[in-house]
Amino acid sequence: MTPADLQSAPFGRFGICPPTSALLRTATYWSRQARSMALTFLPPQEQAERLGARLSFDSLRKPFSLGYRRKRQQALNPERYREFSSAGKGPWSDVPDTVWNDWRWQLRNRLTTLESLSRFMELTPEEREGVSLAAKKRLALAITPYFFCLLDPKDPACPLRRQVIPTGRELFRAPYELVDPCGEDRSMVAPGLVHRYPDRVLFLVTSRCASYCRYCTRSRIVSGASGRELPPDYGPALEYLRSHPEVRDVLLSGGDPLLLADSKLEGLLAELRRIPHIEILRIGTRIPIFLPQRITPELCRLLRAFHPLWINIHVNHPAELTEEARQALERLADVGIPLGNQSVLLRGINDDEETLRVLVQKLLRCRVRPYYLYQCDLIEGTSHFRTPVRRGLELIASLRGHTTGFAVPQFVVEGPGGGGKIPLDPDYVESFENGQLRLRNYRGDAYLYPDVPPETDGPALTIRSNCD
Ligand code: SF4
Repeated sequence: MTPADLQSAPFGRFGICPPTSALLRTATYWSRQARSMALTFLPPQEQAERLGARLSFDSLRKPFSLGYRRKRQQALNPERYREFSSAGKGPWSDVPDTVWNDWRWQLRNRLTTLESLSRFMELTPEEREGVSLAAKKRLALAITPYFFCLLDPKDPACPLRRQVIPTGRELFRAPYELVDPCGEDRSMVAPGLVHRYPDRVLFLVTSRCASYCRYCTRSRIVSGASGRELPPDYGPALEYLRSHPEVRDVLLSGGDPLLLADSKLEGLLAELRRIPHIEILRIGTRIPIFLPQRITPELCRLLRAFHPLWINIHVNHPAELTEEARQALERLADVGIPLGNQSVLLRGINDDEETLRVLVQKLLRCRVRPYYLYQCDLIEGTSHFRTPVRRGLELIASLRGHTTGFAVPQFVVEGPGGGGKIPLDPDYVESFENGQLRLRNYRGDAYLYPDVPPETDGPALTIRSNCD
């Protein structure tokens, strides 16, 4: 943080003068970061012990239970979210449609304070505590009017409400939780540019989102509440990309890249497209869910000029796929953008079979392919969202074979501190003995499969060309 940053830091954080407040905040941030980083530098085994984690794959290979939580599903009744509907304008019913559909109006009128939220919804004591304390310490509160209308004002357990309204539980930090669970800061080669995998980079182009998810992996950067901002100058990152021909894939993320003004986004994409070795561009965004009004025909025309360009959205629950979201996704798909979805597995939100099944099937109807199901990262203050890893495996098993093959996302766990995405799958191989595999299919039925011995090439094949 530079002296200029210190001067411009917001007032009153610690109820003292701005430079001192900013200094204290910076010191707090870096001490938390150092504590987390110290853990990530330990050898994996020691890390695992400190984390209390069971890294043994044997534990994952035990036969998984297909015992569905019927009672819970009946209470949730995810089937009621199967169809696309619109929640309307709620308390903003007197706002003209043209204004309501203006994405800038939506941004200007976001709910960001306890007062604004309390005007429209009765908050529980735990939510009041979360809104007044957690947002100041960790991640700001912001909800677009559009998304607010999707929340159930009477049910604190509403799966959408829990994603965006903080609770006092965010103040609890488990010893294994990290400020930077993916170790991105360690791989930052230029401001905002993370180069961790061999041929691709993550380019964090903004720290702002339309609304803020309480489990955000990048809460250390996103929203500005932690005192950290991404520099607005993309120059050093672009310079790095020009001089690294091994990079063929650039993922724009943040924050949310589609919050950038059209001209700024176009300028950035044009600069990237001028780099000959960059083959594909990708954008990670939650805008079609939080602010579908932003997916304007102009934005779609702009994006289509930079193909091959891929977009991954982020949907966790079928109720997020409204009629407005469906239309926004259709506009993107119609300009030839392949769409994928990344969900985070969240306790009490989407950790049951029926909800997940309705979600992935509804995504396909929006022409979005389910891509990843993430185990919720070990980000500070998110224990209340995390499910056991075994639960994720059970959920994948409940989808595989029971619905369209490409509706089943890959379940991934992020190796703490920079290990990258580690795919996990239910194990369908029960044993391998005497040249035979004992396999289990999606129904749990066992099959013996005679394998080809490794020392032979199998029966000789006569290949005939169709042109003969
Ligand atoms: S939209 Fe993405 S980056 Fe923004 S708060 Fe949610 S998870 Fe974080």
